[in-house]
Amino acid sequence: MTRHCAFCGHKHLTAKTARYIHQLNDELLIIDDVPCLECEFCGEQYFDAAVLKAIEAEHTAIMEHRKAPQATKRVAVESYASFGG
Ligand SMILES: [Zn+2]
Repeated sequence: MTRHCAFCGHKHLTAKTARYIHQLNDELLIIDDVPCLECEFCGEQYFDAAVLKAIEAEHTAIMEHRKAPQATKRVAVESYASFGG
């Protein structure tokens, strides 16, 4: 994994956990407490490829009904073009 921020070049990345929203086709999965490195300067988050692979496998299992999610949420959807003044 990168040891400096590819976005701003800052050298201090801190190990944290964060919420990750994974999209598979048109389905969203929200995963909390995902380990990542976060840039102390700009807040950009970096996830390990193995972590992302595990998330994708989990999401696939849920979509194929091999596994039930811990919870489900309703999600609001908007088109930017519909924003009024
Ligand atoms: Zn940064």
